[in-house]
Amino acid sequence: MTYIPDLSPYDYLPDTVPAGVEVLAVGWLDPGHDFPTADDDAGDDADADADTDVDPVFGRNLITLAADHFTAATRGVHGCRFRHLIEADFQYHAVYGTRVLFLGHAEIRVVTPDGRWLSAPTLVVHYIRDHGYRPPAEFVEAVTAMRVAPGDGGHRDGGAGARI
Ligand SMILES: [Zn+2]
Repeated sequence: MTYIPDLSPYDYLPDTVPAGVEVLAVGWLDPGHDFPTADDDAGDDADADADTDVDPVFGRNLITLAADHFTAATRGVHGCRFRHLIEADFQYHAVYGTRVLFLGHAEIRVVTPDGRWLSAPTLVVHYIRDHGYRPPAEFVEAVTAMRVAPGDGGHRDGGAGARI
């Protein structure tokens, strides 16, 4: 997987994007680059609980998107490259509540109110929950609204010769 700064043009799998659609990247993190975390906001509110400030609707929708609406699936799987307290801390099959997710082989795509797409690797679920990553407000809004980009499910985008 490749590092892409948040809200810069997405260009990882350009042939999975319909012509004329502007797609911005969210959550294409890499250990070589800093990323915003919940802790960054701690100074604003001394009593804030940084670990639990993910909006419950956003969190629940994000799980649903990764489980049921992933797209641009690839044959290969990319694991998280950040350090973990325990070596086995991150697994491709990750349990979140009642859902078992397969992470690292596809993307979540949602749409902003002005029609742009935001594309995040499914690993963004793990980044937010386990590494404190704070995605851009645009992404939180679109996920909370469950504005799923058309063509989700990982089946329709590729057609013949698709990398599934
Ligand atoms: Zn990790």
